[in-house]
This record gives sequence, structure tokens and C-alpha cells, in this order.
Amino acid sequence: MTLEQYSVRQIKGVSAPKEEELHAFGVQTVADLLDYFPFRYEDYRIREIAEIKDGEKVTVQGVIRGNPVLQRYGKSKSRLTCKVEVDHMLVTAVWFNRHFLQNQLTPGREIVLTGKWEQQRLQMTVSESEFADKSTGMMKSGTLQPVYSVGGGITQAWMRKTIKQALLQYGTMIEEVLPHELVERHRLMPRRDAVQRIHDPGEVKEGLEARRRMVYEELFLFQLKLQAYRSLTRKRGDGIVHQVNGETIRNFAATLPFELTDGQKKVVNEIMSDMRQPAAMNRLLQGDVGSGKTVVAAIALYCTIKAGHQGALMVPTEILAEQHLRSLQKLFAGSGIEVGLLTGSLTEKKRRDVLAGLQMGMIDIIVGTHALIQDDVFFRSLGLVVTDEQHRFGVNQRSILRRKGMNPDVLTMTATPIPRTLAITAFGDMDVSTIRERPHGRKPIKTYWVKHSMMDRVLGFIRREVGEGRQAYVICPLIEESDKLDVQNAIDLYVQMQQAFPDLKVGLLHGRLSASEKDEVMSAFGANETHLLVATTVVEVGVDVPNATLMIIMDAERFGLSQLHQLRGRVGRGAHQSFCVLVADPKSENGRERMKVMTETDDGFEVSRRDLELRGPGDFFGTKQSGLPEFKIADMAADYEMLELARDDAAELAGRDDFWTNPTFERARVLLLKDQIFQGEQLD
Ligand code: ADP
Ligand code: MG
Repeated sequence: MTLEQYSVRQIKGVSAPKEEELHAFGVQTVADLLDYFPFRYEDYRIREIAEIKDGEKVTVQGVIRGNPVLQRYGKSKSRLTCKVEVDHMLVTAVWFNRHFLQNQLTPGREIVLTGKWEQQRLQMTVSESEFADKSTGMMKSGTLQPVYSVGGGITQAWMRKTIKQALLQYGTMIEEVLPHELVERHRLMPRRDAVQRIHDPGEVKEGLEARRRMVYEELFLFQLKLQAYRSLTRKRGDGIVHQVNGETIRNFAATLPFELTDGQKKVVNEIMSDMRQPAAMNRLLQGDVGSGKTVVAAIALYCTIKAGHQGALMVPTEILAEQHLRSLQKLFAGSGIEVGLLTGSLTEKKRRDVLAGLQMGMIDIIVGTHALIQDDVFFRSLGLVVTDEQHRFGVNQRSILRRKGMNPDVLTMTATPIPRTLAITAFGDMDVSTIRERPHGRKPIKTYWVKHSMMDRVLGFIRREVGEGRQAYVICPLIEESDKLDVQNAIDLYVQMQQAFPDLKVGLLHGRLSASEKDEVMSAFGANETHLLVATTVVEVGVDVPNATLMIIMDAERFGLSQLHQLRGRVGRGAHQSFCVLVADPKSENGRERMKVMTETDDGFEVSRRDLELRGPGDFFGTKQSGLPEFKIADMAADYEMLELARDDAAELAGRDDFWTNPTFERARVLLLKDQIFQGEQLD
């Protein structure tokens, strides 16, 4: 039996109600409990009084030298004092509300005190005390005590006791999961020792060594999952071989209204080479907003069609779907390629038509939202799936998509430049292509930060740009948890703008509009029939209107950095100088910092680096839906080097021919195969 097969009930002292409580912490089995690591230690090691500073919380050992004095206040409050000799110094120990200790404080008895030291009065306010002669083997004194995340009916003391008990009963059954050679190479503590030590470190150094081992294990197993999955799909080589010659692609590229940038060319080559391989492509295309990812996707889609298959382009919003539909229709005009649209707001009849068209192969390219991956969507022959701005897709969702039956090539595009740590964690199963430059002739967007009191000047700015034939966005922030207020806010701003510019055409875009209303508003703006577009963040991703040169963001302090950068990316998409104005009176230092970052750089990689700094990695994608794993012990920023190491080791191991067969790796394989992404995979 393994520790995963023992319920926590088997541990002495765990009752049925306690078992229930433990479930709330994700602890069901003995293995879970032993892997429930402390997040810090409390130091009960005994200190020399001479080296203690005023106000420190410390533990000292001494001998009782006087009789205790008890003062009572009211019914239940009391103050107990007693002289204690510590390191040849007479100290006053003070306990609050511990009157019952009075009888036990007999002169000559040895005692260990933990509390706050007051240098001036040679006094210690005691929070915990133990008698040295009463040692039961559970003494805290002299040790580092683990501190666990607890709550409900589970106290710190109970958790400590129960984990100790679990170690006593089951400690010897803890098995190594890491391949022996890696344990050796990095001089890691064996798992059994590490688990023991992390709960009961003895020395700080041991605790840290134990932690290092567990961090490596966690990161390694996570990376191994990604790398094994990656090598599996590669080796299997049952993807679609797209046989298209370079000539065909070059001819198509020549029909584009512009020449591809070097970055675009390089990425197109990488994608073409993947698509010709028998292994399914699994590639991430990173490129800052405005770097021209759409046309790269179009070329890849063209390639799949020329090879006799169909393509799908999946995006997060309906607005974006509509826009991509239009731009693809334009790009493929006259080529006989049929582009369709599938979103949640199609009528039932239209939807049926589209589904039939896909199944029979009348539609070559389908653009859509999540509606694309529903169960009843079938393709005649799906060759390529492109997801745009879908950085919130996790590893598992990507594998679901791939298993939609056809094993198509997959290209994921994101404008959120991802710091390397996150890239190898969230996208470790993918190959990465990056476009670093924007198309030639693009001027950097000038960004200003102004206070609300300067709104008049902002309005003057709008008038000037519109006077020169350009267009502007005015963004009002999403009010969280209130869709209604949100819409009201947008309407108010819309009315204000109409009053300020009675002679201009103002459009309004928010989440409550129907799909066809949104489409109408966007078409009018795209055709320069409206000069000014008041919008909520629904325009955040992907929207492309090159004539718009001015982006005004109201209450900009309410947005995160990457969101501001995305919004700013809606301008600067044509040859004209573009501007972004942040209207904000931030109250917090962090808010001011964000505004400053925006004015200092318009490079997405730099923005995301600063964002990571200000927010920490856990929050980077907006936590839960991120597809990022939640590590139990590893800290992505602090354990960066370990992450790199773990990844390299995992890639090496997963790439070995004997990884799936060699008995040495059995434990690691067993752990892997429990993961959802390997379910239903053919292994041999
Ligand atoms: P993003 O990478 O943000 O999705 P888009 O694909 O929407 O960027 O491209 C931004 C704009 O740049 C579009 O209007 C597109 O037509 C244009 N564009 C793309 N590639 C080039 C190029 N090589 N030269 C000039 N303009 C380009
Ligand atoms: Mg885009």
C-alpha cells in the first residue's frame, strides 16, 4: 500500500469530525497530510539574554527565584509576576490571565519563557511557558515549531500534534519519487528525510534544505508533466502533415497590402516548418499589441486550406470574432475561400447552417468564440486551430481542444508578453515564437498622465485630433460586480461627450448591447462614421481601427498595467502619431507607480516586467482562470533558478527513449499518469 491509500482516519487522534475539517484543506489521505507543509517556523530556540534587543520576541531559560505575586482585576482578568534568574540576571516575568500558574511557580524550579523582552525594566511579558522538568517529549522549548495554515476546528497545536503522529506511524513508508540520479546530482535530501525535516527541522539550515528539496520536487514534477506531454505528442507524430510548397505561400504573401516585417517572416517560417511535420504543432506566438499577429494567423490558415483541410480561429469576445471575420474575408477576397462565423448569439437556424457547412466542408475557415469547442461542432477535416488573445487557456484546456478528434495543429497567439518564468510554467508544453518589432513606420505612442481637473485640455486634444481627420476612444472603467452601474457609467460619459461635442458623431459600446448592436457600433467606427467612441473595456483586446489615434482612459488607476497596455494598443496601428491619455487621481503609491510606468514605456515586455514586480506572479493573469498551477511550496519569483533547473532536467528526462519503460522512473510515471492531460493518451 502507498500513503495515498490510507485515510487520515488511520492516524491516532483523528476523529470523523476532524477528518471532515481536514477535507477543507484538501487533505484526505495520509500522503496529503504529510505534504501539508508549514509556511514558516516559530523560533523557540533558547537565547542568551545579553544578546537580546529591546522589544524582541524570544525564548529564554531560567530558574524561579522568588514567590509569585497575583493581582486580580474583575472576574476573569489577572496579572501574575515572578522573579526568574536568567543567565545570572534577575528578570521579572509577567503573565496575564494565567492565575492557575501561581501554584506551580515554586522557587528553584527550571522554566522556559517565551515572550516579549523589555530591556529597560528587565521584564518579559510571557506568552508561553514550559517547565523544563516536565518534559514530555512534546516540548516546544529549544525547537523551531512549524506554523501551518489552519482554521475552523483545526488549531495550530492540533495540526502540529497530528502531523507528528502521522510521521511516527507512517514516516518510514515515505518513498522517493525523484529519479535517483537527480537526487544525487543536486545533492537533494531524500524524500523521507525532507518530509520529516520540513515538519520538524531542528536547525534552520535543515529546514531550508528540506524546503529546497520539496520545491525542486514540486517544480520538477510539474515540468515533467509538460515536457512528457510535449515529447509524447512529438514522438507519436500522428498530426497532420501539411504539404504546401513555399511558392504558394510566397504568392499569397505578395497579395497582402504590405510587406511582412522580418519578425513576421521569421515566425511564418517557424510555423510552416511545424505544419509540415507529422507531429502536431503546439506553438505559442507572442507579440506585443500591434505587432501584426493576425496576418501571420491568416497565412497559417491559408496553408491548411491549400493542404485540403479546414481552419478555426478562436477568440475571447464576439467583437473580436466579428472583426477577424471581416479582416479574413478581405484578405481572402477573390480566392474562393469561405469564411464563417460561429458565436453564442447566432440564431438556432443560422447555427445549424454553420455546423452543417463545417461538417460538409463548405466552410473553409471558421471564426468564433468558445462556441467553437462545444461538443456538437464537427469538422470535415480540421487542420489548424488558432486561438487569439487566449492567454487564459490552461494546459488542460489546450489538450481538450487538441483531442477534438482530429489532432490538428495548434497556434496560440498572445499579446501579453509573458515573463520567462511564467512562460515556461504556463506554456512549458509549447514551442514559443516571438515578434519583437512593430511594422515599419510606426511611431511610439506618446502617453500622458493628467488629473481630472485637466479634463478641459483633454477635450481640446480630442477636438484637435478629430479636426485632423482622426478618431478617438474614451474608455470608462468596468465597475466590478455591477454590470448595471457599469453601463450607467458609460451612458453618462456618452451624454457628456455629446454635450461637449454637439457637432461630432459619438458612438457608445458596452457589454449590455446585443452582438448585432455591437457589430453596428464597431462597423460605424471602423468606417469613420463616428468620430468618438465611448466604450467600456469590451474594446480591450484585439480591436483594430488604424485611423484612431487617441486613447483616453478615464479613472485609469482602476486598471491593471497589462490592461492599460492592451487598451493603449488600440491606437498606434496606422502611420499617424498616436497618443494615450490617462485621466487619473490615484490615491495609492501603487496606483501612481502604474501611471508612471505607462508614461515611461510603451514596450509591452517592459510593462509586463514592471507589472510582475508590482503585483507578484500569482496575480499576473488574474489568478484562478489563468491556467497557472497553484504551487504548494514553490514561489515562482523567489525560486526562479530552481524553476529553470527543474525544467531543464524534466526536458532531458522526458526526451529519453526509455522514459516510458525504464523501471527507475516508475514512481514519477505513476504520478504523471494521474494527471488529467494524460487521460486517454496511448502510451507505449
Ligand atoms: P496584433 O498583433 O495586435 O493582433 P494586428 O494583427 O491587429 O496586431 O495588426 C495591427 C495592424 O498592423 C493591422 O492594421 C494590420 O493590418 C497592420 N499590419 C500588420 N502587419 C503589417 C506590416 N508588415 N506592415 C504594415 N502594417 C501591418
Ligand atoms: Mg490581435
